[in-house]
Amino acid sequence: LSARGNKHLVPRVGIMGGTFDPIHHGHLVAASEVAWVYDLDEVIFVPTGRPIFKLDKTVTNAEDRYLMTVIATASNPKFTVSRVDIDRPGVTYTIDTLRDIKAARPDAELFFITGADAVAEIMQWKDFEQMWDLAHFVAVSRPGYSSTTKNLDLPPHSVDMLEIPALSISSTDVRRRCEKQEPIWYLVPDGVVQYIGKHGLYRS
Ligand code: ATP
Ligand code: MG
Repeated sequence: LSARGNKHLVPRVGIMGGTFDPIHHGHLVAASEVAWVYDLDEVIFVPTGRPIFKLDKTVTNAEDRYLMTVIATASNPKFTVSRVDIDRPGVTYTIDTLRDIKAARPDAELFFITGADAVAEIMQWKDFEQMWDLAHFVAVSRPGYSSTTKNLDLPPHSVDMLEIPALSISSTDVRRRCEKQEPIWYLVPDGVVQYIGKHGLYRS
């Protein structure tokens, strides 16, 4: 059954893409809110391989990011995690993510979930004109970023804007806190705090 308890003939599937370095409660609230408002049957979290906009930065190895995403989502029956991006060699482009998920789930109606900051980059995404045929786009509000797509030159009705509870959390801040040995409790799920400690991630 879907988030609102309905049975859909065409499954409604969300895709939450991200670097998830590490996954935090901002990501989880975004996925949960979109699942509720759009009555999704499932949200697939897709950790990126090499993110195109982070080529200049070091990113934690994909297997750790994948496992933290699994730990963070395991208790939610509607949340799953896909390896399509981390198993595809090379740089990750959202168009490839959409095509791979579409191929795996040809029956589904897809909803790509993105934050207000990432949607501002959408016009630079590879083959962005072809993305509108593959999925609906939902841009969720994020503290510190403009909650409007008006000033972006997007085709009409291509991206919905959704206001969600504001969690001022970023992976960058979580990493910085780990480096300084400051607490990250309640910013990320407990299992992720413990995974980071166990594997000594983000300690310089
Ligand atoms: P980093 O600081 O390393 O860029 P991040 O916190 O932005 O990490 P990402 O993995 O880059 O996390 O983000 C994945 C997706 O989740 C993006 O679409 C981003 O806009 C969205 N997102 C991240 N944090 C939040 C938040 N606190 N509220 C709403 N959306 C968020
Ligand atoms: Mg980011």
